[in-house]
Amino acid sequence: MLRSTWDEVCARVRREEDPFFHDPWLNRLSFIASDEDRIILATPNRLYVEWIQENLEPRLHGHIHAIADRPYAIDYQLDDAAGSERNAFQPEAAAPASLSTGSRDTHLNVRQVFATFVVGSGNQFATAACQNVSDNPARNYNPLFLFGGVGLGKTHLLNAIGNRIRQRDPRARILYLSANDFTTELINCIRFKRMEEFREKFRRNCDVLLMDDIEFLAGKDRTQEEFFHTFEALHGSGRQIVVTADRYPKDIGGLEERLRSRFDWGLVADIQPPDTETKVAILRRKADDEGIALPNEVAFFVARHATGNVRELEGTLTRLLAMSSFHAAPLDVEFARRSLQGYLQVEERSTNIDTIQSGVARFFGVKVQDLKGPRRTRQMVVPRQIAMYLARQHTGLSLPEIGKRFGNRDHTTVLHAVRKVKATRTKDSGYRTRLEGVTRSLGLPVE
Ligand code: ADP
Ligand code: MG
Repeated sequence: MLRSTWDEVCARVRREEDPFFHDPWLNRLSFIASDEDRIILATPNRLYVEWIQENLEPRLHGHIHAIADRPYAIDYQLDDAAGSERNAFQPEAAAPASLSTGSRDTHLNVRQVFATFVVGSGNQFATAACQNVSDNPARNYNPLFLFGGVGLGKTHLLNAIGNRIRQRDPRARILYLSANDFTTELINCIRFKRMEEFREKFRRNCDVLLMDDIEFLAGKDRTQEEFFHTFEALHGSGRQIVVTADRYPKDIGGLEERLRSRFDWGLVADIQPPDTETKVAILRRKADDEGIALPNEVAFFVARHATGNVRELEGTLTRLLAMSSFHAAPLDVEFARRSLQGYLQVEERSTNIDTIQSGVARFFGVKVQDLKGPRRTRQMVVPRQIAMYLARQHTGLSLPEIGKRFGNRDHTTVLHAVRKVKATRTKDSGYRTRLEGVTRSLGLPVE
């Protein structure tokens, strides 16, 4: 592809896509070279590459295909000169991309350790089990079976176990691999008649077997057979086995009964999605790692609107931090809302604060004006607090934002209102009835 073709691609993106999202990125991508099936672009750093791959690449491919009349792969090269422009970001410094030498043979990710794992109610039990296994391999819980949805930290915990065990005993022979890798390796060994080697590696030269995504074995009889004998050999000689899956063992169809029943021998621990507070803690930790001050309000805003998938949560933050760096804009809730529109469900959900204010005013027979005004009579205070409460529950707005919309009140006033409504609701049934009435009148779900 010619440089001029690339320029044409950029021109099209600029013309046809929202400039708020794409301009800053395109400006920092430069064409280096191309051969017949790929182009090489320079970017300032790894963070840019991630963002571009996720957000811009699909469109780039579309335009490239349209203009060049054929697809090209895109490769990135980090460009040091452009990197000096980088303001708050130092992702390379925070995150060594390659594994340190000692881990090469075990394939452990040295960044995934307990110290970087945020513990909350959803993963507390699983984390405790993993720590126990790390400190007492093959003693208390063998096997340990971890299960939970995608992006909830199973792989992280598995690596944390391996890293901790290796730290305590550098000679421990730890094998970390996915069930998929196990299958591939088995197939290769069968093909090249190296089964002795395979068994040596997994049954004899292994003290700790960490196998990820075991659900992959479903329906693969030959691999299950081999895994079963591996399991027997390791377990029988007091070696630790930890496996992860996206489901409870009994719910993995196509798994042999004898294997399934062995997963029950030790401990089965589940991981649940993080609650809002845990999500906030994860966001803050990641921002800290990048050396960026993430305002609490923004962390809460992102946490409230993101799914429980921690990988997605991190992706969202990466996007937000990068956007703010590009636009040199302050990282506040308004900016977050704008940057993440269409990416998260940040549109105020079923309603907005104006609807709530006018609906509540109508229900209680007061004026919206007075709801926002200074009067503190009981007749005004009850509807005002309920309106603040409903705004908090049903819009994505933060406490300060809500305060602002109620005559510039302080966020502590809103917080007080939310607490007051919750407390009164449980004590006073007449109050609860009115609260439910106004909630329904707004077409909102009653808790
Ligand atoms: P899974 O294997 O369950 O799909 P991963 O372990 O790959 O999920 O986690 C996805 C990403 O989220 C990883 O980058 C991981 O480090 C991170 N992560 C998940 N849970 C946590 C947590 N509680 N604290 C910090 N990081 C987490
Ligand atoms: Mg995983």
